[in-house]
Amino acid sequence: MNIFVLLKRTFDTEEKISIANGVINEDGAEFIINPYDEYAVEEAIQIRDDHGGEVTVLTVGNEDAEKQLRTALAMGADKAVLINIEDDVEYSDQYTTAKIIAEYLKDKEVDLIIAGNVAIDNASGQVGPRVADLLDIPYITTITNLTIDGKNVSVVRDVEGDEEKIETTLPLLVTAQQGLNDPRYPSLPGIMKAKKKPLATLELDDLDLEEEDVEAKTKTIEIYLPQQKQAGKLLTGEIEEQVKELVSLLHTEAKVI
Ligand SMILES: Cc1cc2nc3c(=O)[nH]c(=O)nc-3n(C[C@H](O)[C@H](O)[C@H](O)COP(=O)(O)OP(=O)(O)OC[C@H]3O[C@@H](n4cnc5c(N)ncnc54)[C@H](O)[C@@H]3O)c2cc1C
Repeated sequence: MNIFVLLKRTFDTEEKISIANGVINEDGAEFIINPYDEYAVEEAIQIRDDHGGEVTVLTVGNEDAEKQLRTALAMGADKAVLINIEDDVEYSDQYTTAKIIAEYLKDKEVDLIIAGNVAIDNASGQVGPRVADLLDIPYITTITNLTIDGKNVSVVRDVEGDEEKIETTLPLLVTAQQGLNDPRYPSLPGIMKAKKKPLATLELDDLDLEEEDVEAKTKTIEIYLPQQKQAGKLLTGEIEEQVKELVSLLHTEAKVI
């Protein structure tokens, strides 16, 4: 079974984020594997262990992403591929990323592709479905369970808290939702082994792509942090006085009545 995991390096949204000149300031930001992609790596490893085959983790990005790819190798993936677009692509969007990934995969023997449901930074949830569309294979998003029997696949997907059961066949792309599994931490032997596992770096040229072929279809005009909310007002005193004051404030300050 040939399994590919689409893995994105993202900044850690649990850490403080600042914006400088309309872009996220990378200085001081912590970078991690997109958390949904950790579920994807874990699922791929478990499927390989049950069914045999190979897990390849694939990132479109720059050389900084090698660290996250090595972590996935330390978790147990077999191979990593970094498509480094830093020197070739000035402006990228979800179309760019999906087109590059699909171009890389189009002549590979692919049984299963596992992506994250969404990247926690740009969060469009587009890349997985776009890749499947370009490869002309079925896709199922936000999966919480996956069972493979030969070419047949049974999937449970999360539908806003409800569950939907779907049957389909390989080749297939799925996107991982929280709850799919408990991603393992890389073990010390895993980290040692990962240093020797293959990590190939490619550029657009290697895929016979020109910058025009992957030109972004959208342009981000502005990125800004939400306006800081003012502290709420706490009313005190007898309930009748509070009601009077509330009505007065709604009239004079909030101007909604
Ligand atoms: C060199 C470079 C320059 C960029 N320049 C800009 C820019 O100028 N403006 C801008 O707005 N954005 C830019 N980006 C960001 C990039 O275009 C988007 O983040 C990317 O297309 C993914 O979209 P998303 O975050 O909405 O992913 P989603 O669609 O939410 O991601 C869902 C899943 O798709 C997969 N996936 C997503 N991205 C990748 C990836 N890169 N590699 C492998 N798998 C992936 C993962 O499995 C992920 O969980 C740049 C990225 C790079 C690498």
